[in-house]
Amino acid sequence: MHFQLEHLKEHNSELLKLLTNHLPDMLWVKDINGIYIYANKAICDGLLMAKDTQEPLGKDDVYFALREREAHKENPDWHTFGELCFNSDQVVIDTKKPMRFEEYGNVKGELLYLEVFKAPFCDIDGNIIGTVGAGRDITELKRTQIKLEEQKEKLSYQANYDDLTSLPNRSFFYKTLKESIENHSKLALLFLDLDNFKEINDLLGHSTGDKVLIETARRLEKLTTDTSLTSRLSGDEFCLIIKNIDQEEQIHQTIHECMDIMKKSFIVDNNVLHLTISMGISVFPKDGHDISTLLKHADTAMYEAKKDGKNKYRFYNTQMTQKTLEKRKIENELRQAFMNDQLEVYYQPLFNCAAKKLSGMEALVRWRHPTLGLIYPDHFIKYAETSGLIIELDRIVIQKAIKQFCEWKEKGLNPERISINLSAKQIEEEDFLDFIKTTLTQYPLKTDEVEFEITETHIMNDPELSINRLEQVRQLGINISVDDFGTGYSSLSYLKKLPIQKLKIDKSFIDGIPGDNEDITISKTIINLAKNLNLKVVAEGVETNEQKEFLLKNGCDIMQGYIFSYPLSATDMHTFLQE
Ligand code: C2E
Ligand code: CA
Ligand code: CA
Repeated sequence: MHFQLEHLKEHNSELLKLLTNHLPDMLWVKDINGIYIYANKAICDGLLMAKDTQEPLGKDDVYFALREREAHKENPDWHTFGELCFNSDQVVIDTKKPMRFEEYGNVKGELLYLEVFKAPFCDIDGNIIGTVGAGRDITELKRTQIKLEEQKEKLSYQANYDDLTSLPNRSFFYKTLKESIENHSKLALLFLDLDNFKEINDLLGHSTGDKVLIETARRLEKLTTDTSLTSRLSGDEFCLIIKNIDQEEQIHQTIHECMDIMKKSFIVDNNVLHLTISMGISVFPKDGHDISTLLKHADTAMYEAKKDGKNKYRFYNTQMTQKTLEKRKIENELRQAFMNDQLEVYYQPLFNCAAKKLSGMEALVRWRHPTLGLIYPDHFIKYAETSGLIIELDRIVIQKAIKQFCEWKEKGLNPERISINLSAKQIEEEDFLDFIKTTLTQYPLKTDEVEFEITETHIMNDPELSINRLEQVRQLGINISVDDFGTGYSSLSYLKKLPIQKLKIDKSFIDGIPGDNEDITISKTIINLAKNLNLKVVAEGVETNEQKEFLLKNGCDIMQGYIFSYPLSATDMHTFLQE
């Protein structure tokens, strides 16, 4: 564009005015010193606050900026365009190129964003003599962009921090751990789990549980430093990373800080709670070279701490994994055993020695392992208990034993009564009663031909629940017997309320007869207790004649033990019944 400045000032035709003043965009022309030569209505109204399109002529932006400043003295936070934007006119003049800018400032207090295009113009000789400009209000667009940015920030916060406690979450923890491992410096993972947190949730409700977690997080967060990070992995599991370790002592110090931090009682919703944590520690690179191994090992160590009585910490060692592997292997194989019908039931006779006749038999499970042979329950019942597989195991035994029992009856043999062992977990199952009812309708037997044995310790775990559930079982006509009696500290009041018919004196007391005075006293006491409560009493593990005579003399008629018979396979029991 080549112009003479004077010519331009004159050449401000009516038609051009009409056009520019009706456009919503701001349009202007300035000379080389930034003095307005032309300003349309939109810039006068929207930016300069000029009374008409004549007012800006001969003035520059500084003039209008100062005037705005003066008008809004009381609001020092408001800044005009002139104050906030660098002089873009000069940039265009210096570079001699048309350019786009985004400028912003307060106009009547509102923050306004403009998209501005500026271009230089020259005289006939090619000298720059001024600039032309066009500006468009992009405030709405800018606001949307800002909102989007904020949302993005929030999302990134949520992706890295835990909603409940505001601690770094699992994802943040993984990232930090990954970086630290890549740095190859020694680090330790402290895997923390609140002891008995489930009870708090169950007894006091989830809202109180949440508050406990928040308070725990607040305390543990204090241990976050430049070289350590506290995060919440899930539920009541927290993890601390200690980085750049040069002395073992650092780990021990943090462990003790964690334990100490929990000592102060928690006051939550008017409850005073005493909480402890169990902690497992794995160390990089000694205990693993990647995140998942380190975490798994810290977790394994944590479980050892729980198993050893909670409120403890354990450093990981390889034997721990071996133990877990064994447990896992047994669990998996046991599942296979169910599917491949490897469980067998053995039967051990119970005798009424006074009447000199069979009183019944106890069903005892055996596992016919494809390579290891016959395995006794002592080797697998505890794994079945901890994994929950015991529920299915017991049901398999119930079905097999009842089926076999009915077959003997059908053949005209007299097996008298079948006693079946039940885990406490079984009677806690919601559908146990339905299962029993259905099973009983499938076979031709009277319900009082069936007896369930439940150990005293299991019953006393939750006596109220046991009473309730056993009452329903009893209503079906099934007999209930307390197994291993004497080992479980029953309270007499509960014993009276339980719908039981029989006590089985634990084998350990029979073992001591006749040499051990304490065992003799205990056995006599149990026999008397049973008589007073109108219960039958059985002695198990009877191996010698002395034991048998002692029991008979003291009024215990029913006995079970190797002196009479070992547990027998179904075939052997069949022969036994025929004799
Ligand atoms: P328990 O219910 O106390 O069963 C008695 C155990 O003592 C049986 O061991 C039996 O073989 C053994 N025994 C019997 N008389 C004598 C004796 O004179 N001397 C000696 N030394 N032992 C004797 P087993 O069969 O190894 O069962 C061990 C435990 O496994 C049982 O103890 C019971 O608690 C559990 N169990 C067995 N079968 C089942 C089942 O089907 N379900 C559940 N939940 N537990 C079962
Ligand atoms: Ca038993
Ligand atoms: Ca027993």
